[in-house]
Amino acid sequence: MLSTGQRALGVQRVLDPAGVLPQAARRLDADPAVGPDEVRIAVQRLNLDAASFRQLSESHAGDGEAVRAAVVDIVATRGKMQNPVTGSGGMLIGVVDAVGPESPLGLAVGDRVATLVSLTLTPLRITDGLARWDGRSEQVPAEGTAILFARSIAAVLPDDLPDAVSLAVLDVCGAPAATARVVERARARSVTVLGAAGKSGCLSLAAARAVGALELTGLVRTEAEAAALTAAGLADRVVVADATDPLAVAAAVGTPADVTVVCVDVQGAEHGAILATADGGTVVFFSMATSFSAAALGAEGMAADVTMLVGNGYTPGHADLALGLYRSEAGVRALIDPRVVE
Ligand code: NAP
Repeated sequence: MLSTGQRALGVQRVLDPAGVLPQAARRLDADPAVGPDEVRIAVQRLNLDAASFRQLSESHAGDGEAVRAAVVDIVATRGKMQNPVTGSGGMLIGVVDAVGPESPLGLAVGDRVATLVSLTLTPLRITDGLARWDGRSEQVPAEGTAILFARSIAAVLPDDLPDAVSLAVLDVCGAPAATARVVERARARSVTVLGAAGKSGCLSLAAARAVGALELTGLVRTEAEAAALTAAGLADRVVVADATDPLAVAAAVGTPADVTVVCVDVQGAEHGAILATADGGTVVFFSMATSFSAAALGAEGMAADVTMLVGNGYTPGHADLALGLYRSEAGVRALIDPRVVE
């Protein structure tokens, strides 16, 4: 018999292996029947994590049909959307269609919500075979059901923004919140963002500026992204380098920054980020493609005295902060809107 606290974590949904929390499970029970403290969502759209989508897309050579089949298969096999290679998921939007009598989430049937917990721990059943998705973008029109636990978090979708925009912004809302917190606590003056023209990257730049950082550097991979980021006006300096080439990153960034935020969606950015960070500084690894061992051993091998933080997807107030930055910063909108496929 599970305690209320254990049920709140979703332990009742773990099928395999026994004894782990839902995020670590190989397989969850995605039965749409809700328990007394659970909430069911009629799913409308998934947002696949950028690192996961890139990995799926590259491993199927951009074949959308194959990517779609792979996602359908993962969800059917695992009862959740967790890419077995990257380990990452994403989040979803939908409409609340059942609320257990003991759910503490304050949601009501009919509420339009975005889940703010990862798909890697959300019981999910797909009923339409993702027939309306071409497998070529992170946003996936979908029909099915998802389950929230008593300790899950969800945001009611704002009325003033297109759902696809809210979904994209909320998926990465942990990044600007983590950046703001680190910059404030360290009283950081200089901040470098790797992958600065992406969704989490541009929000992180805007968040750093909002809490008083004075020297903002945005690193991007291509001249086209450099032009877009320069036009957006979110960075004091825009540099071009491949984030996976540590020496190129160090050369492009120049004087190391107090804080570096890693927002790329590819593997191999750890060493460049460490080189780009001043002694005593902090690296926030928001990217799900980060290797803990590469970061830890790389820093040791460089005798780099840097604090390295895993970008926690949850910080209190993160959703409102990110949506607020999207609304207030034209530069953020200019960079995110073209990435959002309606
Ligand atoms: P995004 O919008 O696709 O942005 C990623 C950016 O990185 C793009 O501008 C991309 O450029 C750039 N990039 C890719 N390879 C690069 C390279 N070698 N050098 C320099 N720039 C490069 O992705 P996002 O949605 O912001 O997500 C970014 C990361 O956050 C992902 O790894 C994702 O897994 C992670 N994430 C973490 C959490 C969490 O809770 N910690 C939650 C959500 C997402 P191109 O567009 O030209 O490829």
